[in-house]
Amino acid sequence: MRSTRSTCPYCGVGCGVLIDTVGEGEAARIVGVRGDPDHPANFGRLCTKGSTLHLTATPLVRQRQRLLQPAWRPTRDEPLQAQDWDTTTQRIADQLLAIRAEHGPDAIGFYISGQLLTEDYHAFNKLARGLVGTNNIDSNSRLCMSSAVVGYKQSLGADAPPACYEDLEQSDCLFIAGSNTAWAHPILFRRIEAARAVRPGMKIVVVDPRRTETAEFADLHLALKPGSDIALFHGMLHACIWEGWIDAAFIERHTAGFAELKALVRTMTPSESARLTGLKEAQILQAAQWFAQSPSTLSLYCMGLNQSSSGAAKNTALINLHLATGQIGRAGAGPFSLTGQPNAMGGRESGGMATLLPGHRDPGNAAHRDEVAALWGVGAMPDKPGKTAVELFQAAARGEVKALWIACTNPAQSLPDQALVRAALERCELVILQEAFAGTATAAFADVVLPASTWAEKEGTVTNSERRISRVRAALPPAGESRADWRIVRDVAQRIEAALRPGEPSLFAWETPEQPWIEHREATRGRDLDIGGLSYAMLEEAPRQWPWPAGAAGAKSRLYEDGHFAHADGRARFIAKPFKPTAEMQDPKYPLALSTGRLRDQWHGMSRSGTVARLFAGEPGPALSMHPQDIARRGLTAGALVRVQSRRGPLIVPLRADEGVGAQQAWLPMHWGSEFLGGRGQFGINALTQPAFCPDARQPELKFAAVSVETVALP
Ligand code: SF4
Repeated sequence: MRSTRSTCPYCGVGCGVLIDTVGEGEAARIVGVRGDPDHPANFGRLCTKGSTLHLTATPLVRQRQRLLQPAWRPTRDEPLQAQDWDTTTQRIADQLLAIRAEHGPDAIGFYISGQLLTEDYHAFNKLARGLVGTNNIDSNSRLCMSSAVVGYKQSLGADAPPACYEDLEQSDCLFIAGSNTAWAHPILFRRIEAARAVRPGMKIVVVDPRRTETAEFADLHLALKPGSDIALFHGMLHACIWEGWIDAAFIERHTAGFAELKALVRTMTPSESARLTGLKEAQILQAAQWFAQSPSTLSLYCMGLNQSSSGAAKNTALINLHLATGQIGRAGAGPFSLTGQPNAMGGRESGGMATLLPGHRDPGNAAHRDEVAALWGVGAMPDKPGKTAVELFQAAARGEVKALWIACTNPAQSLPDQALVRAALERCELVILQEAFAGTATAAFADVVLPASTWAEKEGTVTNSERRISRVRAALPPAGESRADWRIVRDVAQRIEAALRPGEPSLFAWETPEQPWIEHREATRGRDLDIGGLSYAMLEEAPRQWPWPAGAAGAKSRLYEDGHFAHADGRARFIAKPFKPTAEMQDPKYPLALSTGRLRDQWHGMSRSGTVARLFAGEPGPALSMHPQDIARRGLTAGALVRVQSRRGPLIVPLRADEGVGAQQAWLPMHWGSEFLGGRGQFGINALTQPAFCPDARQPELKFAAVSVETVALP
């Protein structure tokens, strides 16, 4: 038996795994996956998803549930037909060149994924911006953490989570906002449970409209009205100012903008905050006191803040509290956003998103564009703003984007307002789907599918929530004819180069994943995330955090300990943004506030976790959860099928009674798309959700849709 050290491909905790295999070459098969006892994220622990990883790569799954060959659809009405790689690669290059020549580079869009490795991200980014010449490249991470990116940049000056996992064990107060950590980041929650067992004085506050498994564990659960987080944070800040709980010396020495914020929150008294949030004044005061007066306070936050039309403002309102109380830059203190996907951070670092450039640069900054052009050896970078996830599909629905290259994600399941997304995919002249698993909802719209290799077959790197870069290693050969994502991109790019840069040296002359990784590393030199001192060889030895500049003896696991922030003057900024209600409101026609979220045992659209029967043991299918009193008041019946209707579309699912759901609210798991519900002609959960997005972060408001619920009359 052989053991290969790698990284779990599910969530942003980034746990180390040991993949046990028997056999060699094509005969190799995985017989088990264990937690890596030496990995500093998990120290040998794995959650239900990680510990069943081997079941997603059995010979049967690899044979039956994977895409194994490139394939084309001769016409939209015909089934996909297998084709060889050479023909497929050339045909894609020819079609993209033709669309670019006729409609310009911005008629092409790339929609990629936080599941990709950093090397893959770099390859797509260089193809889109350096060769095709468009900033139309965005990632499904837009749905997950772009509000956190903007929050950190506006408040602290750089997109760098300042804390690390060890802070969970060193904190006296954990303020968990919009995160069901127990289910979405299970191994971090185990660390929290263990920390509390040895620190009985530790306070845990959970901010969530729903009484989740995480909220059950809290000393104080703030079950606020959906979308009212800013009213809570501003109310807490008002209380801190009034009670004298702020750190005036820290504010004076290390920040700017406090006077404006103080004026803004003057009217957000605890009673006003209580009115807007539905909480009690005493709860708001208690939370403020623990936040400010605990020796160290660490906030953990995730989709509940990020997936909002005020996502960036929610982030900065929470960071304001840390700055006002001096709860940052010390062990156990700081604002710590958790990433959902395994390499959402790598996408941020490599700039594989419309609003970012490599090395935390800004596509709107001409000097930054010139720096990247020089690094890549291209004449110039495109300066027209790129379209973010929702905007990209809206542009395709209008006929402005003609070709979409989609990699390792399933927009026909995961994007909001599915009716619009599907219209966009149908209208595109060319939809390329690069994917490992067969049968996703998006595959039905693809003109060509490119089989990608996946976890246990790929080499590269990912970065987890605490800025730690880990190696991903191959334990098996690629299934069928599947190939590494960066390699698929390279092969198409080289054919496009032959037409656009004849006779010039290739920009994509890579034979190993280390080569694109080195290009990525070079783009970080001198930047806040500098990894100029790292090499693949060092990552072979152990996972490492950034920054790690050349000559450094080690990483900085905690940032801003000297009180010097990343803004040019070294001062953090208080951001004064008022509370705004959600983009759409409940009304008599749509009286319930719907939120969606993760289950413990499933992952995203279930293309991988859905191959494991035992992960359905707890939740075999989707159900709409409502409070029993709401069910009774509306004449509904738990267990019956109900039609959930939003302003965008309907969904039919069973109804479940759940006392953890608030009054006039409803909750749905996010995982079921049309491929699982298609028998009823449904678009999946996101038929209901809305595309309204945060003006700063462009992240859609997946956590709020106004809906009605009625019993389905059976024939
Ligand atoms: Fe994998 Fe996340 Fe579970 Fe760790 S916590 S084993 S990274 S799914």
